[in-house]
Amino acid sequence: MNALAAFIQRFRPLSALLLLALLMAGPATGLINAYWSRTVMLIAILSLLVSGLNVVLGYAGELAMGQVALYAVGAYVAGYLGVQFGTANVVLALGAAIVAAVLVGLVTGIPGLRLGGWSLAMVTFFLVILVPNLIDVFEHFTGGTLGLAAAVPTLFGMEITGNRLYVLILVVTALWFAVARNLLLSRHGNMFLVLRQSPILASILGVSVYRLKLLVYVVGAIPAALAGALFSMLDGFIAPETFTFSLALSVLAASVVGGATSVYGALAGAAVMQLGQQTFTQFQDWQLVIYGAFLLLAGVLFNRGLAGLVNDGLAAARRRGWLPPGPSAAAAAAASAQAEPELGQLRGAVLRTEGLSKSFGGNKALQDVSIEARPGEVTALIGPNGSGKTTLLNLICGFYKPSGGRLLLDDEEIGGQPTYRIARLGVARTFQTPLIPKDMNTLAFVATGRYVTHRVGLLSAVLRLPAFRRGYADDNAEALALLRLLGIEDIADQPVDSLALGTRRLVEVARSLASGPRVFLFDEVGSGLDESDLVVLEQSIEMIRRAGGTVILVEHNFPLVLKLADRIHVLSQGQLIASGTPAEIQANRRVLAEYTGATDEEPETGPAGPDTGPETAVIAEPAARKGGQ
Ligand code: ADP
Ligand code: MG
Repeated sequence: MNALAAFIQRFRPLSALLLLALLMAGPATGLINAYWSRTVMLIAILSLLVSGLNVVLGYAGELAMGQVALYAVGAYVAGYLGVQFGTANVVLALGAAIVAAVLVGLVTGIPGLRLGGWSLAMVTFFLVILVPNLIDVFEHFTGGTLGLAAAVPTLFGMEITGNRLYVLILVVTALWFAVARNLLLSRHGNMFLVLRQSPILASILGVSVYRLKLLVYVVGAIPAALAGALFSMLDGFIAPETFTFSLALSVLAASVVGGATSVYGALAGAAVMQLGQQTFTQFQDWQLVIYGAFLLLAGVLFNRGLAGLVNDGLAAARRRGWLPPGPSAAAAAAASAQAEPELGQLRGAVLRTEGLSKSFGGNKALQDVSIEARPGEVTALIGPNGSGKTTLLNLICGFYKPSGGRLLLDDEEIGGQPTYRIARLGVARTFQTPLIPKDMNTLAFVATGRYVTHRVGLLSAVLRLPAFRRGYADDNAEALALLRLLGIEDIADQPVDSLALGTRRLVEVARSLASGPRVFLFDEVGSGLDESDLVVLEQSIEMIRRAGGTVILVEHNFPLVLKLADRIHVLSQGQLIASGTPAEIQANRRVLAEYTGATDEEPETGPAGPDTGPETAVIAEPAARKGGQ
């Protein structure tokens, strides 16, 4: 069993090719009859549509309903070229479909994504509704409601019909899936997943959310247009009836059945949908009701689709030792043979605020705050909840624009710059509530920290060039070294969203270290950690300081702050009430009063016990905890 499984794993690409070859030879060898060969072609075409939706929705989490419109664009572009030139050169038709997909993707994506929120869903939804009207308006090109008879496709002078068309459709589909696989199973695909989970997290990693969304949307448009072009060759006739809203629903349903966050789920989903439609003759009349009911059910019952079921099965088999460990575990194990982890030199930067203020309406969350954080030092920010600590971090990393004052990174004004640009200047942060993506293992998540700083191009990833392999191996080795640094390398292979809160915080620290940043913003990084994790955290912050990084630490654990901080700033109701060394702050009566709730007369009554002075007291938190980043 194990040997067979290992064999399949080793020769997986080969087995896939073999299967494809068998399928391609089917009609020629008489193994597949005409009915089935048409079915296979229709499944292939539908799977292209579904795959495009998976890229956009399943990976990047952007609801784009326009696959059907792009399908129509591909079909009509190929059809029109054929009519104009008498014959339709396959390469020309497919190439034109791709160009058209990119253009339509940009034209609808730029406004749809600029406006944010639901606007892309709206724009693309209307696009689908508008397709029949557009076909009518451009009757001169499209033949209007009467339809358009496509020319016979050709390639190198050969007419591509019958069995040749069958092979062409399968080859194009296989090529697209190879591209999609290489793209999605790469750092780019991981970044799409980060984007789906949290655009805020993506921007902290130095990614321009708008540009990444546009990229994903345009990439997802390509297979849809290819599918359209292939469909026009298959049917030889295109009319508005094909490009309906119920087809859009069918694509969505197929995506859900197959599993939207999966590369090959699109094939399974398309097969189920296509066979379902062909098998149940009454389907046409009932399809909207069926899709509706089905989407509701599927959404409730299994939200990861067939691919999810298969993956769960594989994971269970691995746990029981029926299968060898997955590829990333093996890679991690290989990399862990390396030397003891240590942190290289960090090029810390001076971060300065000058009279920084931020108001939310009438609420002055931060008023006239001037602090300086230097390289090789830990600058702590303390203060009760709601005193403006997170707001200050949010200003520094660019989530908020200052209402007044200046924000300087090595004397360069960064106040008001977009988050991703500040991140690229070397500001990294963790969150009060860790931001953790789904469908990703811990090692890959830590490696996303290097997405911008150690970039491997899209083309390298799609073609799996040596640069990609090198970059991937380096990322993994570095991510693993960081996990070891924090003593959690054993979780490298676990889904990162399955980790406990304390471990998530450590993973976030590793992720923030991965880009080799200059300034670290740690927001309540110690809360929720148990004793042993706290020790690790303390050591790693110590290590960052020694390596020359600039650390700004927001922390409620007063003893930890006293131990780590070179300088402490105390905030209260948005104002700086004290700054100084730990010893100075400890001796400051006003601070004590702020923290222990004690008055000047009786300064040292901590809540946790008789001899709990400020040395050991964890700063009391008022009952209403503020959420947010
Ligand atoms: P801390 O991190 O010190 O607990 P915060 O910086 O989160 O405090 O909050 C400081 C004040 O700013 C609070 O009064 C909070 O309600 C307010 N605040 C923070 N973020 C926002 C926001 N996005 N919109 C409105 N008010 C906010
Ligand atoms: Mg806070």
